[in-house]
Amino acid sequence: MSASAPKAQTDLDGSCHCGDVQLTLPAEPEVATRCNCSVCRRLGAVWVYFERGAVTIAGHPESTQAYAWGEENLRFVRCARCGCTTHWEALPPTPDSRCGVHLNLVPPALQARVRVRRRDGADSWEFLD
Ligand SMILES: [Zn+2]
Repeated sequence: MSASAPKAQTDLDGSCHCGDVQLTLPAEPEVATRCNCSVCRRLGAVWVYFERGAVTIAGHPESTQAYAWGEENLRFVRCARCGCTTHWEALPPTPDSRCGVHLNLVPPALQARVRVRRRDGADSWEFLD
């Protein structure tokens, strides 16, 4: 069990609040997406997208809970202990499938460098900016 809110080694390292789930982005993203679909708006998530196999995620699935619904072609994952949303992944999460990582888990210095775009996932699937 790691200490609370662990310090990131680099700006590409993120974690949930308690540290049970830790992840590393493969590269610094340029753009993130804030989506208004029925799930994302409730999670308050800001997503950056990568191939699932390119993102290192420790503590998943042993320390996580997941939520899928409907056709269950993806699941939203959160830390089972502190509840922070960490990512979503396709089902099944093959290495070349897409995943979304919650940008708010990485250090604020990196967040400040990433442009956040608003996507109308609830309706048109267009960007709103
Ligand atoms: Zn946690």
